[in-house]
Amino acid sequence: MIVIAIDGPAGSGKSTVGRRLAERLGLTYLDTGAMYRAVAFAAIRQGLDPEDRDRVAALARAVDIVVDDSGVRVDDIDATVEIRGPEVTRAVSVVAANPEVRTELRARQRAWAIERGGGVIEGRDIGTVVFPDALLKVYLTASPEVRASRRAKEMTDLDYDEVAADIARRDAADSGRADSPLATAGDAVTLDTSDIGIEAAVDELVGLVERRRTELAGPGGTPGGAG
Ligand code: C5P
Repeated sequence: MIVIAIDGPAGSGKSTVGRRLAERLGLTYLDTGAMYRAVAFAAIRQGLDPEDRDRVAALARAVDIVVDDSGVRVDDIDATVEIRGPEVTRAVSVVAANPEVRTELRARQRAWAIERGGGVIEGRDIGTVVFPDALLKVYLTASPEVRASRRAKEMTDLDYDEVAADIARRDAADSGRADSPLATAGDAVTLDTSDIGIEAAVDELVGLVERRRTELAGPGGTPGGAG
């Protein structure tokens, strides 16, 4: 199976780069942040306190989550728009710091990849924890100003300062938590998208994947790579 792992903070360009890269490589794309957002959405809907570890963990094990190109469904409710809203965004880092939630979603992410023979998978702990044997690990980043202005363009109900504060808060929570914090894998390629833009980043990554496949194939071999 061929897994391309993309990690990085909010607004680094992971989703756009991941989607385009998957298209170019003929692989399926998975946004794991949408899965954590789906659990936060379900918790809010059920009136749970996001800090209530046991109840939120039980919910994570029971909830049906479908993340695909057409959007996100949570227990058969279309949550595509709502999971990006301020309420879910405020709760998601607390939900994502819950180790039992992480254990459950990690298992689902691995099962997803096995079913599809791999994919381009994006999140915070994909290269470090979920797929340590990925064919290529990428750590995408960009300056805080560029990240905040990208997100502010997507969020019509928040202004730049609110988005910048939200990103700073989530970065600190995601990097500081005990269980699988946001970090660069030792063998990841770091790419700063502040100046080069999305298309150039995708071109560079396609080149890197092709090189890795050739290296693994060896003379006359078949491309492989565990994930
Ligand atoms: O990628 P996105 O910003 O939508 O992710 C939402 C949140 O989900 C992150 O701030 C983080 O708390 C959590 N997350 C995570 N591990 C992942 C993906 C997302 O903890 N692999």
